[in-house]
Amino acid sequence: MTARKETHEFKTEVKQILNLIINSLYSNRDIFLRELISNGSDAIDRLRFKSQTEPDILGGDAELRIRLIPHKENRTLEVSDNGIGMTYDEIMENIGTIARSGTASFLAALEASQSADVLTPELIGQFGVGFYSAFIVADKVTVLTRAAGEEKGVKWESEGDGAYTIEEIDRPFRGTSVILKLKEHEEGEADFTDQWTLQSIVKKHSDFVRYPIVMDMEKQEPIPEEEQIKDKDGKPVGETMRTVVKEETLNSMKAIWARNKSEVTDEEYKEFYKHLSHDWNDPLTHLHLKLEGVTEYSALLYIPGSAPFDMFDRERKHGIRLFCKRVFIMDDCKELMPEYLRFIKGVVDAPDLNLNVSREILQQDRLVRNIRKNLVKKVLELIKNLEEKDFETFYEEFGQVLKEGVHTDWDNKDKIAELIRFKTTRSEDKLISLKQYVENMKPDQKEIYYITGENLTTIANSPLLERLKEKDYEVLLMTDPVDEFVVTSLTEYDGKQLKSAEKGDLDIEEGKEEKEKKDAYTALFGFIKTKLQDKVKDVKPSSRLKDSIACLSGDAYDMSAYMEKLLKASGAQAPENKRVLEINTGHPVVDKIKTKFESNRDDPSLSDYSELLFDMAVISEGGKVENPSKFNKMIGELMTSAL
Ligand code: ADP
Repeated sequence: MTARKETHEFKTEVKQILNLIINSLYSNRDIFLRELISNGSDAIDRLRFKSQTEPDILGGDAELRIRLIPHKENRTLEVSDNGIGMTYDEIMENIGTIARSGTASFLAALEASQSADVLTPELIGQFGVGFYSAFIVADKVTVLTRAAGEEKGVKWESEGDGAYTIEEIDRPFRGTSVILKLKEHEEGEADFTDQWTLQSIVKKHSDFVRYPIVMDMEKQEPIPEEEQIKDKDGKPVGETMRTVVKEETLNSMKAIWARNKSEVTDEEYKEFYKHLSHDWNDPLTHLHLKLEGVTEYSALLYIPGSAPFDMFDRERKHGIRLFCKRVFIMDDCKELMPEYLRFIKGVVDAPDLNLNVSREILQQDRLVRNIRKNLVKKVLELIKNLEEKDFETFYEEFGQVLKEGVHTDWDNKDKIAELIRFKTTRSEDKLISLKQYVENMKPDQKEIYYITGENLTTIANSPLLERLKEKDYEVLLMTDPVDEFVVTSLTEYDGKQLKSAEKGDLDIEEGKEEKEKKDAYTALFGFIKTKLQDKVKDVKPSSRLKDSIACLSGDAYDMSAYMEKLLKASGAQAPENKRVLEINTGHPVVDKIKTKFESNRDDPSLSDYSELLFDMAVISEGGKVENPSKFNKMIGELMTSAL
């Protein structure tokens, strides 16, 4: 720690965010107050939690509150709390950088791909940029803070221009004051030094904050009789009213989750969500639960309106805050919500929990496990009962994450299977459920067919599906990486097996004639197999192809081509996985090769044809041939002789 005043540059991503905020949030200016009050309330939560085990920490300053101090002449507004405060190092860490990993690259991608006017408040709101919103209304922001248990305080100051100063100061009390030097106030705009304006913003955005938000307010009150000046008849001659300054509490402080559903308005639910999540947009929906009995708890959970940009970041915080009788216990309570529902935000209040619980204990706690089980059930029901339009939004934003549950939540696998949706060969634009798929099945169709791959068009047109299409069997088109895991866990639905269109034999009935015809190719295919022995593990007559000449497939328990690609892309060691070359015995070219083979088995062109068949199979699934120039040459020669 140094006593010197130091100047530091903001990190690049902070500069970008500040620019975005200052330039595009002009019409949402009053949210800055909600953000600063939320930060103050969080800081008090943390202090209060710590005081459970260290009661001395409160010292003589035990009346926890947030205070607003407007100053009209100076055009300043101070938002102060007597919460946990920040040390020099903490303020360096928390303010001036943005901790969420991936922010920088996300912003860079945005800047590269979109014009400034796409950077809407909705988008920015997703970052949860809390503190920085101060710069929407202020030219200069000063933070004075002293952490609980520290001797010295810290002063941080910035004009939002890319740099900030930081120095050690004397500060006689604990907590944080954020002092805003407000921008020039223009005609018709809200004046953030006006007590009524501030009061109404607090009412609107922060009413349920659990600590008093206080402000000195000027009030008119009657002058007591005995102090009034009166004439000889006892009639007052001077003023009967006077202005007094009184400290008022601006918020009702009612914990919203502890109230009855019928008493909470939609608007209040939405405001609470924003307070909790730092998201500036409305949630999609909420779930308010109050359970009594053996497992007693209340919960207020939300599905956000859109997915955060870092939803797939493993380090990302979860959204559940745990309380015990309205006392904050912890943020980011992973123990209460499985990974695949990590997008859910909200609070859980469990009155029977021990206040001194640690994360380690939480994991084993029976009560916690029961609550979690219960919450998962309720959340899945909530999703199931969403109206169609909301469900579509939900699925678009969070479907990919939800699908992870098929693989990771054995107990609820079947319920999740009801919720997941896929595009299909008959429905390339609109997602359908497995239930709908089964309803659409042909009378003679026994299995649910699917194909996985990176690109929808490629898999929808894959030669692997030719025979299935001919039979008019619908095929699920799976393009999410997570789908590979879905199909390893979800082996059947509604008593019907899920079957990969690229693996094993397709159970498509074929006539005796067809069988015999295939047998006639045994010798040729044996020959091709020896030619391609480094590349394929078998060469077989195809049960899948109708028009194409060749394709690659796998044995029933092989890894799919897409899975192999995903593994390789992730840097994992994919096991050597040779595939099966399937050849369409109904294709005239194959007949011609057979004739050639039967007349002279040593014909050197047979080797080339074998390789061509393989290359064509690779190309048809969107793959790359090993030796494109050789392929090119062979095709050229063939075309010349054919034309
Ligand atoms: P967020 O609140 O979403 O984490 P902010 O940019 O608002 O993002 O704040 C960053 C961090 O700075 C907070 O997580 C907290 O650790 C710290 N902080 C902000 N305001 C305060 C405050 N009033 N008291 C103590 N710490 C604070």
